[in-house]
Amino acid sequence: MAKVLVVGGGFAGVVAAESLAQTLGSDHQITLAARSHEFVFYPALVRLAFGKAEPDDITFDLREAMLDRKVRFIEGEVARIHLDEGYITFAGGDVVGEMAYDFLVLALGRRLATERISGFFEHCQHLRRQSSAKPVRAKGAQCDADEASECAQKEKRPVHVSG
Ligand SMILES: Cc1cc2nc3c(=O)[nH]c(=O)nc-3n(C[C@H](O)[C@H](O)[C@H](O)COP(=O)(O)OP(=O)(O)OC[C@H]3O[C@@H](n4cnc5c(N)ncnc54)[C@H](O)[C@@H]3O)c2cc1C
Repeated sequence: MAKVLVVGGGFAGVVAAESLAQTLGSDHQITLAARSHEFVFYPALVRLAFGKAEPDDITFDLREAMLDRKVRFIEGEVARIHLDEGYITFAGGDVVGEMAYDFLVLALGRRLATERISGFFEHCQHLRRQSSAKPVRAKGAQCDADEASECAQKEKRPVHVSG
């Protein structure tokens, strides 16, 4: 039995883990690890920001969802990947310490380099988390999603939607 470890609980990691579980069946162990058990459907953050969806509408619990798909889920922060030795180190979460794998899928997403855009934090708002969508909602709750740019202009605080 091979141990397949998929790291990252976004679209890439979830789809990879599901597909592997479906293809390989129960002969092999598929584990999905991510720093949070909460999956956020990013495209709907725009709807959340403009009051057209509630937090519960755009998230689901990976622990429950993965059980149905025969994938073991671990909530944990990956601190280090030891590629040559074939194990990773978790810094916190369900597992603290090392976990060995036979096959590793890295689906850790990307990081916005907003610090490289001067004035971004003072004048813009990004939509990458529920916590960053909420301030937009608080300021622009009266706006319709279609009126987003008009609202943003009134606020003089552009909304940056990044994929
Ligand atoms: C507002 C918005 C709207 C969008 N709309 C669209 C759209 O309409 N159509 C479209 O195709 N795309 C859209 N996108 C883009 C799309 O959502 C992203 O491309 C996609 O979510 C990326 O998925 P991913 O799995 O690669 O990365 P992510 O979703 O970023 O997942 C990365 C995962 O890795 C985990 N992780 C990272 N580091 C660690 C670590 N050290 N230890 C443990 N776990 C870690 C994270 O917690 C997360 O679970 C949109 C994005 C945004 C923000």
